[in-house]
Amino acid sequence: MSRIVVVGIDGLDWPVLEPLLDELPVMREIGRKGHAGEMPSVFPPDSIPSWVSIFTGYDPSEHGVLDSIDYFKKGIKRFAVDTGAFRGKTFWDLAGERGKKVIVVNPLLAYPPWDVNGVMASGPVFISGEAMATPKSLAGELELPPLGGIVDFPEKGELTAFARKSHEETLRTVEFTVKLMESRDWDLVFVSILTLDRIFHFFWRYHDTGDPTHPRSGRHAGVIREFHKLLDDCIGMLQRSAGDDTIFMILSDHGHGMRPPSYFNLNQLLLEHGLLESRIKGPKFLHPRYLVDRAKNFTLETLHRLDMEDLAYRIAHILPWTRKLKKGDFLTEPTENLATASEFGGNNPFGGIAVSRKRCSSMGLEYEELRDRIIALLLGTSEKNGEPVFLWAKRREELFSGPHTDKFPDILYEMRPEYGTNWSLHVPLVTRNPRHRKISGGHRKDSVMIVGPLHHWRIDTRHLSPLNIASTIVHLLTERTPDGHDPAGTVKNRCSFLVRD
Ligand SMILES: [Zn+2]
Repeated sequence: MSRIVVVGIDGLDWPVLEPLLDELPVMREIGRKGHAGEMPSVFPPDSIPSWVSIFTGYDPSEHGVLDSIDYFKKGIKRFAVDTGAFRGKTFWDLAGERGKKVIVVNPLLAYPPWDVNGVMASGPVFISGEAMATPKSLAGELELPPLGGIVDFPEKGELTAFARKSHEETLRTVEFTVKLMESRDWDLVFVSILTLDRIFHFFWRYHDTGDPTHPRSGRHAGVIREFHKLLDDCIGMLQRSAGDDTIFMILSDHGHGMRPPSYFNLNQLLLEHGLLESRIKGPKFLHPRYLVDRAKNFTLETLHRLDMEDLAYRIAHILPWTRKLKKGDFLTEPTENLATASEFGGNNPFGGIAVSRKRCSSMGLEYEELRDRIIALLLGTSEKNGEPVFLWAKRREELFSGPHTDKFPDILYEMRPEYGTNWSLHVPLVTRNPRHRKISGGHRKDSVMIVGPLHHWRIDTRHLSPLNIASTIVHLLTERTPDGHDPAGTVKNRCSFLVRD
């Protein structure tokens, strides 16, 4: 029987990691004795749906947890996610039910922790509330580190302190895990490190010389690289505690790259094709909503040019109708539209379009025909140089078949990586993202899987998928083939990507 340590690193990205491997001896060795490379993520490649898929083996339409974290929404203090979709159904629950002892530290969203066959410690997402652990006696025995997805929003002058704090938090989480490993029996350890994602979001432009806002000064240039070295040291600490022979699985929920420097104003495209109605009728320069929207865009643009986006960010929060301004319904009323760009993917290259069945039937149009027409419109949209903007666009049912499929917008798409969805109206189709300096890193659709040493196992890369991680872990721990493994009675065809030699 194997013992396994699973290290989840939010946002770990293969194209960033691979060139650094010479300086990361622990990860390099684990990969050399096993496998290291890219793994596809789920759609949308956001932390919340992706981690829940990794925990359970359900795809996002099967678990239905599609929330995303918007770093620009500063006012939101509490982020309530219904953990009922995965509580008791995760790979550590399945392992525990099969008699395996587990140590689980810091799984995203899995808060408050529940009873497991071993210990589980987690923290809240989005608030710096209290970390908690089960069994409750653990908190008296060991001091809990800060856990959860605590979101800071550092200004430029605070970045150095922010990196230091992320560094310390990471170390404390791993040291706490090591203490647990050394004080009790275990078969499975799962620890999540959520700090790299934030480092990428705020430090990307300092790392990437190809970023249009990369500073020539070299300021903060080494932060991302140093953070990878810290992660490697952390995995080394876990490995010394576990022993060289223990199988390590290092994985991420999505990758990271440059956040799109350009906006594609999708509602503007829908407006131009008669699919969306603007609230602005008649001469637009007489319309207060139009003027407020223009003022906001102009202010953000100007401050971006002057490298003063911290001020831009504060001003964006003072302007009237702030909440609404960010939202797509400021200049349009979605219930009046045939089609409206959804906010579900944020300012990212992936997203969706909501199509109103009600509006279709009141206008005597056929819903499916309209979806086809919109998909054709997206696929036919190109830049001035003739390059298509959209890599693909599909009906949601082409990607998903789970019971929560209708939580997705009617049409799903992915644009080229330089474009992020935006909702402004009465603007050109492509505009500059004026907040790129503030958050320059964004999610990339591929994630990472490093697993080793594999001993008498080998990897079947055809089945390498976040949806097969839960099955693979149970398979490794119990040697029982998980074919047809079906934790909730709804998930089909999950299998192990590790098989006996
Ligand atoms: Zn993430």
